[in-house]
Amino acid sequence: MDYKALGDKYLLHTYNRYPIVLERGEGTRLYDENGKEYLDFAAGIAVYALGYGNKAFNDRLKEQIDLIMHTSNLYYNEPACIAAKDVCEASKMDRVFFTNSGTEAIEGAIKTARKYAYLKDGMTDHNIIAMEHSFHGRSMGALSVTGNAHYREAFQPGIGNVKFADYNDLSSVEALIDEKTCAVIMETVQGEGGIYPAEDSFIKGVRKLCDERDILLILDEIQCGMGRTGYMFAWEKYGVRPDVVTMAKAIGNGVPVGAFAMTERVAEHSMVPGDHGTTYGGNPFACAAVSEVLRQYKENRLTEHVKELTPYLEAALDGLKEKHDIVADRRGAGFMQALELKEPCAPVISRAQENGLLVISAGADILRLVPPLIIDKEDIDIMKDRLDKALTES
Ligand SMILES: *Cc1c(COP(=O)(O)O)cnc(C)c1O
Repeated sequence: MDYKALGDKYLLHTYNRYPIVLERGEGTRLYDENGKEYLDFAAGIAVYALGYGNKAFNDRLKEQIDLIMHTSNLYYNEPACIAAKDVCEASKMDRVFFTNSGTEAIEGAIKTARKYAYLKDGMTDHNIIAMEHSFHGRSMGALSVTGNAHYREAFQPGIGNVKFADYNDLSSVEALIDEKTCAVIMETVQGEGGIYPAEDSFIKGVRKLCDERDILLILDEIQCGMGRTGYMFAWEKYGVRPDVVTMAKAIGNGVPVGAFAMTERVAEHSMVPGDHGTTYGGNPFACAAVSEVLRQYKENRLTEHVKELTPYLEAALDGLKEKHDIVADRRGAGFMQALELKEPCAPVISRAQENGLLVISAGADILRLVPPLIIDKEDIDIMKDRLDKALTES
């Protein structure tokens, strides 16, 4: 069967897919329909943190399928109650709402901020400050706070009252804040925008501005959270805490689930019954996945593993930068790394695929590496070797 042709005929053409039909995975390796093996440094876009074919994870899902997969939120269910506790403990937040995706988590965070401000002054004209080069998702609210004019252009008008500051430029945030600002939303490490970690003084400065004016700080940790930077959440490194956090991607290890969580103070002064809902969100199947993911993070000391191996990964990438003239920069945090090239990265990605390595991009000339968190030194050595070849041929 020619699945590429089938997909090209019937799938809505919103992606220019790589010409690979993936069939199955094992650990850090993926296999296509022809049995060709790939070392995976993409993890389905920072999702498959525990690696493929994880037996305990798969067994837990199978067990839950046989019990019940969906109840709606009109009733309690055991996995959702347990996962809520697990997520709150992991994030040091107090209350959580489960969604089906990252973009929906952003929608919930935006609604929380608007409601919080509405309860203070009864007005409906509050604004949100977002960042240039940010990415928060594709639904209308999330798109409206995404700092990529090209993504927004054809779909205007957005939700309105959104202003864009420059990431890592505190004065640009300060200049946009006014008495109608209800939230500042940003990624702790910008992902799609090119892998830019927040500077210490910037994130602390934004936190301070928000505290002084009772503005909610929403940190989008959908990509950089869940251990990817060597901390359960990337903000921990800076010693700041958001008022609202969004998560998704790795939290489900392949099961579509997201969440937004908040402090008790925000929860008490925002959403009430009737304000927000979802049919699927937080169903027993998705929540069983979340708790098993968090259990394995603890059991396998995954954040420590990322911290321990980060210097080795960075050294490998720095080595490639030294060797190859077309590499302009290496940056990142933990297992969220980028090689910025002096030319488009698409040909390098294709050659890497031919050599049996999956990497992705974050912008036209930025190679992004977001491997499963379970990679070992050998995986890093193989990645280096295959990427070296791909860069050499350019
Ligand atoms: C992927 C991503 C989103 C959107 O998540 P979806 O599950 O694709 O809707 C939002 N924010 C960030 C930082 C992301 O990386």
